[in-house]
Amino acid sequence: MSEKKLLVKGGQLVSETGIIPGDLLIEGERIKAQGLKGAFDNINVDEVVDASGKYVLPGLVDPHVHLDSPFMGTVTVHDYNSGTIAAAYGGTTTVISFSTQPKGGSLLENLEQTEKKARDQAYIDWSLHGILLDAGPKTLTEIPKLVEAGVPSYKCFTTYRHADRLMDDDSILKLLEVTAEVGGILMVHCENDTILEYYLRKELARGHFSPIYHARTRPPSAENIAIQRIIDLMKEVVAKVYIVHTSTAESVEIIQSARVQGLPIHSETCPHYLTLTEKELEGENGQFFICSPPLRVERDIEALWIGLANGCVETVGSDDAGVSPQDNLRLAQGRFDKVPSGMSGIEPRLSILYTEGVCKGKIDLPKLVSVTSTAPAKIFGLYPQKGHLGAGADADVVIYDPEPEWVMSAKNHHMNTDFSPFEGFKIKGKVESVLCRGSFVIRDGALVGKAGHGKRIFRRL
Ligand SMILES: [Zn+2]
Repeated sequence: MSEKKLLVKGGQLVSETGIIPGDLLIEGERIKAQGLKGAFDNINVDEVVDASGKYVLPGLVDPHVHLDSPFMGTVTVHDYNSGTIAAAYGGTTTVISFSTQPKGGSLLENLEQTEKKARDQAYIDWSLHGILLDAGPKTLTEIPKLVEAGVPSYKCFTTYRHADRLMDDDSILKLLEVTAEVGGILMVHCENDTILEYYLRKELARGHFSPIYHARTRPPSAENIAIQRIIDLMKEVVAKVYIVHTSTAESVEIIQSARVQGLPIHSETCPHYLTLTEKELEGENGQFFICSPPLRVERDIEALWIGLANGCVETVGSDDAGVSPQDNLRLAQGRFDKVPSGMSGIEPRLSILYTEGVCKGKIDLPKLVSVTSTAPAKIFGLYPQKGHLGAGADADVVIYDPEPEWVMSAKNHHMNTDFSPFEGFKIKGKVESVLCRGSFVIRDGALVGKAGHGKRIFRRL
């Protein structure tokens, strides 16, 4: 039996290198060929999808989501089912979530449990990073096996001492060493714990419990120092590092100068750091905007956009990690330091970046494709299977209509929460259809995919 042939016709094909009018021929789960307009007109296809007036992008890769993750006494609102539905509505066809090492336990065993949670649930493809809680002998011997098991990336923290997640310099050096040996990539959440604890003690003693003190107790300096420290350690042991969710203006410069020195460091930011400021913490819903690092100020937003434009910041991940507003309120009891920090943002990445970045002239469309799809695919070992519209790639395709104008709201999003960090944002353009490995997941704005279509992607760097 021959495989189904589908022609996406008349659109503007966008890649990280440019935009060309052209047609896309899909056969089964793969892209068969990309051609100029009309190039495949004499081929018999099963279906033609009219993309005239639309942009055709490679499916987005979200390198940073926390699906079905226990955190601070609750669990994130998105599991592999609801999270991948919302992701698909936003044009994402691959998410990389996390499997967390139980304290003192085996990450490899946890991988199996995470796999169980995801089985038959996902609408789009998914992959896993590890989260490491210690750098003990057992963990270090497990890392090569982890890489073998298709998980060449794993995250650690320079903070959360209170939750027993902090990695000290000694541990980081050990992780860098094994990472260099196995050819993996170490992801680091950078905030200097000592600075955070210093301010936290001080503000709590003064009776300051409102959400804005989340930002006051996690100053930009804490992030900057932690990033610089990682870079200093990388100079001792050179290994690939990916700094997750950078949020400060200085982080862009610090990472840039490390790059100039030839260090293999990558960095990510998130839609919320590109659009929202700490003023949100002073509003009525302040505590729902608590994320770590915290939202910053206008100056940081400007620097991050420039960093994206000039390539210093390479990726935009959602860091989707929201808990339900009900859990947030219940666990916090009016204290900013008890809020399970993190926001839901798995859906709006493309429309926010298109509206706030492309339409406002901060980045162009090829850059948008790069930071949301191609660059994360390349950094994390998914390219050219993902993040690419060329022959042989998975037929993960987004058709984006640039015309519609609408207002983003918790009332019209598909995330499993009644809070949207981007409530009231005026949005330009809309995801019209999404294919994941040749099958429609979203068609003309409606969910038509199936749970279980999404499969686990094993990665190799
Ligand atoms: Zn995260």
